[in-house]
Amino acid sequence: MPEARTPLISGNWKMNHNHFEAIQTIQKLAYALNPEDYDHVDVSVHPPFTDLRSVQTVLQADDVPISLGAQNVHQEKSGAFTGEISAPMLQKLDVSYVIVGHSERRELFGETDELVNAKALAVLAEQMTPIVCVGETLEERRAGRAEGKVASQVAGSLAGLAPDVVGGLVLAYEPIWAIGTGETASSEDAQQMCAHIRRLVGEQWGADAAAGVRIQYGGSVKPANAPELMAEPDIDGALVGGASLDPDDFARIVNFRLYQT
Ligand code: PEP
Repeated sequence: MPEARTPLISGNWKMNHNHFEAIQTIQKLAYALNPEDYDHVDVSVHPPFTDLRSVQTVLQADDVPISLGAQNVHQEKSGAFTGEISAPMLQKLDVSYVIVGHSERRELFGETDELVNAKALAVLAEQMTPIVCVGETLEERRAGRAEGKVASQVAGSLAGLAPDVVGGLVLAYEPIWAIGTGETASSEDAQQMCAHIRRLVGEQWGADAAAGVRIQYGGSVKPANAPELMAEPDIDGALVGGASLDPDDFARIVNFRLYQT
Protein backbone atom coordinates (compact mmCIF):
# COMPACT_ATOMS: atom_id res chain seq x y z
CA MET A 1 0.00 0.00 0.00
CA PRO A 2 1.45 3.43 -0.88
CA GLU A 3 1.57 5.90 1.99
CA ALA A 4 -1.40 8.25 2.14
CA ARG A 5 -0.78 11.60 0.51
CA THR A 6 -0.94 14.57 2.89
CA PRO A 7 -3.48 17.04 1.53
CA LEU A 8 -2.14 20.47 0.60
CA ILE A 9 -4.46 23.45 1.06
CA SER A 10 -3.09 26.49 -0.77
CA GLY A 11 -4.37 30.05 -0.69
CA ASN A 12 -3.80 32.03 -3.87
CA TRP A 13 -4.23 35.68 -2.92
CA LYS A 14 -3.81 36.78 -6.56
CA MET A 15 -3.33 40.58 -6.94
CA ASN A 16 -4.86 41.39 -3.53
CA HIS A 17 -3.41 42.83 -0.30
CA ASN A 18 -0.58 45.32 -0.01
CA HIS A 19 2.13 44.31 2.43
CA PHE A 20 0.38 45.88 5.44
CA GLU A 21 -2.83 43.97 4.66
CA ALA A 22 -0.80 40.83 4.02
CA ILE A 23 0.73 41.03 7.51
CA GLN A 24 -2.72 41.40 9.07
CA THR A 25 -4.12 38.51 7.04
CA ILE A 26 -1.33 36.07 7.85
CA GLN A 27 -1.44 37.01 11.52
CA LYS A 28 -5.21 36.41 11.63
CA LEU A 29 -4.80 33.10 9.81
CA ALA A 30 -2.06 31.95 12.17
CA TYR A 31 -4.32 32.87 15.11
CA ALA A 32 -7.31 31.03 13.61
CA LEU A 33 -5.38 27.76 13.31
CA ASN A 34 -4.33 25.61 16.28
CA PRO A 35 -1.09 23.61 16.31
CA GLU A 36 -2.99 20.32 15.90
CA ASP A 37 -4.76 21.64 12.79
CA TYR A 38 -1.53 21.09 10.89
CA ASP A 39 -1.24 17.43 11.94
CA HIS A 40 -2.80 15.95 8.80
CA VAL A 41 -2.62 18.75 6.30
CA ASP A 42 -0.01 20.97 4.67
CA VAL A 43 -0.89 24.64 4.22
CA SER A 44 0.59 27.24 1.88
CA VAL A 45 -0.20 30.88 1.17
CA HIS A 46 0.69 32.60 -2.09
CA PRO A 47 0.78 36.39 -1.62
CA PRO A 48 1.83 38.87 -4.33
CA PHE A 49 5.61 39.21 -4.78
CA THR A 50 5.68 42.53 -2.90
CA ASP A 51 4.31 40.83 0.24
CA LEU A 52 6.57 37.79 0.35
CA ARG A 53 9.25 39.25 2.62
CA SER A 54 6.68 40.58 5.10
CA VAL A 55 4.78 37.29 5.26
CA GLN A 56 8.03 35.33 5.56
CA THR A 57 9.03 37.47 8.54
CA VAL A 58 5.74 36.81 10.37
CA LEU A 59 5.84 33.07 9.68
CA GLN A 60 9.43 32.77 10.89
CA ALA A 61 9.09 35.04 13.92
CA ASP A 62 6.10 33.09 15.24
CA ASP A 63 7.25 29.68 14.00
CA VAL A 64 4.01 29.20 12.07
CA PRO A 65 3.94 25.92 10.09
CA ILE A 66 2.46 27.52 6.97
CA SER A 67 4.59 27.29 3.85
CA LEU A 68 5.27 30.35 1.81
CA GLY A 69 4.27 30.19 -1.85
CA ALA A 70 4.53 32.36 -4.95
CA GLN A 71 2.02 32.80 -7.76
CA ASN A 72 4.38 32.83 -10.71
CA VAL A 73 8.06 32.87 -11.65
CA HIS A 74 10.27 33.63 -14.64
CA GLN A 75 11.99 30.65 -16.19
CA GLU A 76 15.47 32.23 -16.35
CA LYS A 77 17.72 32.58 -13.30
CA SER A 78 18.64 36.23 -13.94
CA GLY A 79 19.16 38.72 -16.74
CA ALA A 80 17.54 41.48 -18.75
CA PHE A 81 13.90 40.59 -18.09
CA THR A 82 12.43 43.82 -16.77
CA GLY A 83 9.72 43.32 -14.20
CA GLU A 84 10.27 39.60 -13.72
CA ILE A 85 11.17 37.54 -10.63
CA SER A 86 13.42 34.46 -10.76
CA ALA A 87 13.30 31.14 -8.91
CA PRO A 88 16.59 31.79 -7.02
CA MET A 89 15.06 35.05 -5.72
CA LEU A 90 12.03 33.15 -4.43
CA GLN A 91 14.17 30.42 -2.94
CA LYS A 92 16.12 33.05 -0.96
CA LEU A 93 12.81 34.11 0.62
CA ASP A 94 12.14 30.55 1.80
CA VAL A 95 9.40 30.03 -0.75
CA SER A 96 8.44 26.33 -0.88
CA TYR A 97 5.71 26.18 -3.52
CA VAL A 98 5.34 28.10 -6.77
CA ILE A 99 2.14 28.08 -8.81
CA VAL A 100 2.89 27.70 -12.52
CA GLY A 101 0.44 27.76 -15.42
CA HIS A 102 -2.51 29.20 -13.50
CA SER A 103 -5.36 29.60 -15.99
CA GLU A 104 -5.24 33.38 -15.55
CA ARG A 105 -1.60 33.32 -16.67
CA ARG A 106 -2.42 30.99 -19.55
CA GLU A 107 -5.46 33.03 -20.67
CA LEU A 108 -4.43 36.63 -19.91
CA PHE A 109 -0.68 36.37 -20.48
CA GLY A 110 -0.56 33.73 -23.20
CA GLU A 111 1.45 31.13 -21.27
CA THR A 112 1.84 27.89 -23.21
CA ASP A 113 2.50 24.37 -21.94
CA GLU A 114 6.09 24.77 -23.14
CA LEU A 115 6.56 27.88 -21.02
CA VAL A 116 4.84 26.26 -18.03
CA ASN A 117 7.24 23.34 -18.42
CA ALA A 118 10.25 25.70 -18.42
CA LYS A 119 8.92 27.44 -15.31
CA ALA A 120 8.34 24.11 -13.52
CA LEU A 121 11.95 23.13 -14.31
CA ALA A 122 13.23 26.47 -12.99
CA VAL A 123 11.32 25.95 -9.73
CA LEU A 124 12.60 22.39 -9.33
CA ALA A 125 16.17 23.51 -9.98
CA GLU A 126 15.93 25.61 -6.78
CA GLN A 127 14.53 22.72 -4.71
CA MET A 128 11.05 24.24 -4.55
CA THR A 129 7.84 22.46 -5.56
CA PRO A 130 5.79 23.65 -8.52
CA ILE A 131 2.01 23.57 -8.31
CA VAL A 132 1.22 22.92 -11.96
CA CYS A 133 -2.28 24.04 -12.95
CA VAL A 134 -4.37 22.42 -15.66
CA GLY A 135 -8.03 22.70 -16.59
CA GLU A 136 -10.52 23.05 -19.39
CA THR A 137 -12.83 25.85 -20.52
CA LEU A 138 -16.61 25.51 -20.39
CA GLU A 139 -16.68 25.28 -24.19
CA GLU A 140 -14.20 22.39 -24.12
CA ARG A 141 -16.21 20.61 -21.41
CA ARG A 142 -19.48 21.02 -23.34
CA ALA A 143 -17.80 19.70 -26.49
CA GLY A 144 -16.60 16.58 -24.64
CA ARG A 145 -12.97 17.68 -24.97
CA ALA A 146 -12.18 18.24 -21.27
CA GLU A 147 -10.18 15.04 -20.70
CA GLY A 148 -8.20 15.48 -23.93
CA LYS A 149 -7.36 19.10 -23.09
CA VAL A 150 -6.17 18.18 -19.61
CA ALA A 151 -4.17 15.24 -20.97
CA SER A 152 -2.29 17.48 -23.38
CA GLN A 153 -1.62 20.04 -20.63
CA VAL A 154 -0.27 17.35 -18.29
CA ALA A 155 1.97 15.88 -21.01
CA GLY A 156 3.23 19.29 -22.17
CA SER A 157 3.69 20.90 -18.76
CA LEU A 158 5.55 17.91 -17.27
CA ALA A 159 7.56 16.99 -20.38
CA GLY A 160 11.01 15.59 -19.68
CA LEU A 161 10.55 15.21 -15.92
CA ALA A 162 11.80 12.02 -14.28
CA PRO A 163 9.28 9.70 -12.54
CA ASP A 164 10.60 10.43 -9.03
CA VAL A 165 10.29 14.16 -9.69
CA VAL A 166 6.72 13.81 -10.95
CA GLY A 167 5.87 11.75 -7.86
CA GLY A 168 6.81 14.73 -5.67
CA LEU A 169 4.88 17.34 -7.63
CA VAL A 170 1.61 19.04 -6.96
CA LEU A 171 -0.88 19.31 -9.82
CA ALA A 172 -3.96 21.48 -9.55
CA TYR A 173 -7.05 20.62 -11.57
CA GLU A 174 -8.86 23.91 -12.02
CA PRO A 175 -11.76 23.91 -14.49
CA ILE A 176 -11.58 27.45 -15.83
CA TRP A 177 -15.36 27.90 -15.72
CA ALA A 178 -15.29 27.33 -11.94
CA ILE A 179 -12.59 29.87 -11.06
CA GLY A 180 -13.92 32.96 -9.33
CA THR A 181 -17.41 32.31 -10.66
CA GLY A 182 -19.08 30.68 -7.68
CA GLU A 183 -19.58 27.61 -9.89
CA THR A 184 -17.95 24.47 -8.48
CA ALA A 185 -17.44 21.23 -10.31
CA SER A 186 -19.51 18.58 -8.57
CA SER A 187 -17.35 16.42 -6.35
CA GLU A 188 -18.02 13.50 -8.73
CA ASP A 189 -16.83 15.50 -11.77
CA ALA A 190 -13.79 16.78 -9.88
CA GLN A 191 -12.95 13.26 -8.70
CA GLN A 192 -13.38 11.88 -12.21
CA MET A 193 -10.92 14.38 -13.68
CA CYS A 194 -8.41 13.99 -10.84
CA ALA A 195 -8.54 10.20 -11.29
CA HIS A 196 -8.00 10.74 -15.02
CA ILE A 197 -4.94 12.88 -14.27
CA ARG A 198 -3.56 10.23 -11.89
CA ARG A 199 -4.10 7.58 -14.58
CA LEU A 200 -2.22 9.72 -17.11
CA VAL A 201 0.67 10.15 -14.69
CA GLY A 202 0.70 6.37 -14.13
CA GLU A 203 0.77 5.66 -17.86
CA GLN A 204 3.61 8.09 -18.57
CA TRP A 205 5.68 8.02 -15.38
CA GLY A 206 4.72 4.78 -13.62
CA ALA A 207 2.76 3.58 -10.61
CA ASP A 208 4.99 5.16 -7.95
CA ALA A 209 4.71 8.60 -9.54
CA ALA A 210 0.92 8.21 -9.77
CA ALA A 211 0.70 7.16 -6.12
CA GLY A 212 2.88 10.05 -4.94
CA VAL A 213 1.71 13.04 -6.97
CA ARG A 214 -0.72 15.29 -5.11
CA ILE A 215 -3.66 16.55 -7.12
CA GLN A 216 -5.50 19.59 -5.82
CA TYR A 217 -8.91 20.74 -6.94
CA GLY A 218 -9.45 24.47 -7.49
CA GLY A 219 -12.51 26.46 -8.49
CA SER A 220 -14.75 28.27 -5.99
CA VAL A 221 -13.71 26.10 -3.05
CA LYS A 222 -15.48 27.41 0.06
CA PRO A 223 -15.87 26.17 3.65
CA ALA A 224 -19.23 24.65 2.70
CA ASN A 225 -18.06 22.53 -0.25
CA ALA A 226 -14.50 21.68 0.86
CA PRO A 227 -15.43 18.69 3.09
CA GLU A 228 -17.24 16.89 0.26
CA LEU A 229 -14.54 17.62 -2.33
CA MET A 230 -11.74 16.56 0.01
CA ALA A 231 -13.49 13.26 0.74
CA GLU A 232 -12.85 12.11 -2.84
CA PRO A 233 -10.02 9.60 -3.08
CA ASP A 234 -8.05 11.32 -5.85
CA ILE A 235 -8.40 14.89 -4.53
CA ASP A 236 -5.41 15.68 -2.35
CA GLY A 237 -6.11 19.24 -1.37
CA ALA A 238 -7.39 22.52 -2.71
CA LEU A 239 -6.09 25.58 -4.50
CA VAL A 240 -8.28 28.35 -3.10
CA GLY A 241 -8.62 31.83 -4.57
CA GLY A 242 -11.37 34.12 -3.25
CA ALA A 243 -12.02 32.28 0.02
CA SER A 244 -8.33 32.42 0.96
CA LEU A 245 -8.57 36.20 1.40
CA ASP A 246 -10.73 35.69 4.49
CA PRO A 247 -8.58 34.07 7.20
CA ASP A 248 -11.59 32.54 8.98
CA ASP A 249 -12.95 30.98 5.79
CA PHE A 250 -9.52 29.71 4.81
CA ALA A 251 -8.97 28.25 8.28
CA ARG A 252 -12.29 26.39 7.98
CA ILE A 253 -11.19 24.97 4.63
CA VAL A 254 -7.88 23.86 6.19
CA ASN A 255 -9.98 22.17 8.87
CA PHE A 256 -12.28 20.47 6.36
CA ARG A 257 -12.02 17.23 8.33
CA LEU A 258 -13.93 18.71 11.26
CA TYR A 259 -16.92 19.28 8.99
CA GLN A 260 -16.95 15.91 7.25
CA THR A 261 -19.96 13.73 8.07
C1 PEP B 1 -7.74 30.12 -8.11
O1 PEP B 1 -7.38 31.27 -8.07
O2 PEP B 1 -6.92 29.25 -8.40
C2 PEP B 1 -9.12 29.80 -7.78
C3 PEP B 1 -9.50 28.56 -7.80
O3 PEP B 1 -9.96 30.85 -7.44
P1 PEP B 1 -11.41 30.75 -6.73
O4 PEP B 1 -11.26 29.86 -5.54
O5 PEP B 1 -11.76 32.15 -6.36
O6 PEP B 1 -12.36 30.16 -7.73
